[in-house]
Amino acid sequence: MRTLLIVLLTVFAFSSNAQFEWPNGAKAAVVFTYDDGLDCHLDIAVPQLDEFGLKGTFFCTGKSPSLYNRTEEWRAITKRGHELGNHTLFHPCDGTGRDWVKPEYDLRTYTPEQIVAELKTANTLLKAVDGNTERSYGYTCGHFVANGVDFTDSIKSIFVAARCDGPIPETMDGYKTWKTPSYTSVDPDINDLIAQVEEAKANGTIVVFMFHSVGGGYLNTATDVHKKLLQYVSENSDDLYSDSFINVMKYVKENQ
Ligand SMILES: [Zn+2]
Repeated sequence: MRTLLIVLLTVFAFSSNAQFEWPNGAKAAVVFTYDDGLDCHLDIAVPQLDEFGLKGTFFCTGKSPSLYNRTEEWRAITKRGHELGNHTLFHPCDGTGRDWVKPEYDLRTYTPEQIVAELKTANTLLKAVDGNTERSYGYTCGHFVANGVDFTDSIKSIFVAARCDGPIPETMDGYKTWKTPSYTSVDPDINDLIAQVEEAKANGTIVVFMFHSVGGGYLNTATDVHKKLLQYVSENSDDLYSDSFINVMKYVKENQ
């Protein structure tokens, strides 16, 4: 009996400490995501990603003026392996402490049915741009509650995965592909960003970066800092697996 217990404890210890296996023996995954469909994504982020052969995921709202004005350019980047992700039509958020949230776009008064209908409509819009029928989602403001109800379960049939916020995971055990943690920082230092990558590497897990403006604007990341991060990931590609959010999430789901 005692031997059996020891065997079971050993098996449990091994299974909970088993390292998640990333492709090609990589030690961690790195994902670059960009929110709100901004011109600087097309003008700065994409050219830098292309320079290093890296892929980005662009969580674009339906109301993005850039998506309206430069539709062909957004379509073209998806042909090069970048991803257009769903970020709603109108960018509703919980307005608590957010003066900029208009009453009609406040998730506190949206119904769950309303946000799901908006997300489906945004999927139709993005499909018209890139032709894709599989899509990932970036929760606006990281919020997943409408009118007091967590609507996460209602979106599982229309998305592959969804990005939320939170710290670098310590383990891939129990990794939530419907509320993935992501890292965001305003005017970050390059050392700060590299530290996130190194933490993911030490843990054998993943860092999902959430950027907004690149090269000037709100929640900004400086052009050279962004470039240095891409260069670092590119130079350490033996250790770091990087792809679009949807592709990395598919890999995680298949190997969890
Ligand atoms: Zn946003």
